[in-house]
Amino acid sequence: MTFEGTEVRSLFERTLDALPDGVLLTDSDRKVVYANRAFSDLWHIPAQILATRDDLRLLSFVLDQLLDPVCFLREVERLQLTHQSSEDEVLLKDGRIFSRRSVPFSEDGALVARIWIFTDITEARSASIDALTGIPNRHAYSRQFPRYLKAPEEGLLSSVAILDVDNFKRYNDHYGHAAGDSVLHQIGAVIRSHFTNADDLFFRIGGEEFLMASRARAALDAHTFFEALRDRVGNLAIEHRGNDPFGIVTVSMGLAVFDGPQSAAEVFRHVDAALYRSKELGRNRVTLAAA
Ligand code: GH3
Ligand code: MG
Ligand code: MG
Repeated sequence: MTFEGTEVRSLFERTLDALPDGVLLTDSDRKVVYANRAFSDLWHIPAQILATRDDLRLLSFVLDQLLDPVCFLREVERLQLTHQSSEDEVLLKDGRIFSRRSVPFSEDGALVARIWIFTDITEARSASIDALTGIPNRHAYSRQFPRYLKAPEEGLLSSVAILDVDNFKRYNDHYGHAAGDSVLHQIGAVIRSHFTNADDLFFRIGGEEFLMASRARAALDAHTFFEALRDRVGNLAIEHRGNDPFGIVTVSMGLAVFDGPQSAAEVFRHVDAALYRSKELGRNRVTLAAA
């Protein structure tokens, strides 16, 4: 069966409208050429704004909904000048998380159009976040950590640490499980605020154990960085009578630094051995694994 031009177009449009992903097509002047139904649904775009096809109004309507509009705009402007594809995530003020994919469409080496695809990944995301601490869970760890180790950054080391709360069983026994939960919640907040680089990783891998990864220039820098984290937990000054001789909640860490691609199992083995050493040496410390 053959289709005349308008019928093909309408078939394509109807197909795109059936997609759950928001699709936006912009031309080389950044003008909006096409937006599918899911695009306007995801961004709650009123029909009258769509009808005007006014790309600046549309853009400002989108920007208004973002937690970090400056960063979003910078990335849009950067991509418009390149032939690159990209994939990242954007956070909305209403709590939703969208993945943003952008694919250039070139003809004879000239950029003709760019396709933007937005997918609501809020639910998938929340399934990988631990509710008590707000930190990615073990499921996220097993998906993301191996990938991180396989692709090190040129000229930087990968530093990986496991943090374990000291004498935490005794804390629960003495102060109760709810108080213990509150400690984990507070430590989670400290961890989240300590890591500020976009590619830093942290996970709650077990009850009172967290694994963290960060790029570093040198082993000493990594040690200083994780020592500062240990210090911040101490500064919470949460009473813990069963944690002699400190009397407050403390954490121990094992740390290892690596150059080049690594396997997750091997890295874990080194870091865990260093953590064991921290416990043996009296807790409340960061031990750097022997190279
Ligand atoms: P160490 O210093 O050697 O790590 O001693 P520890 O008592 O912390 O070690 P252990 O592994 O024996 O105990 C860990 C405890 O963590 C056991 C459990 O009661 C507690 N725990 C694990 N998950 C949770 C949780 O989600 N909430 C609370 N409140 N406690 C938890
Ligand atoms: Mg433990
Ligand atoms: Mg412990």
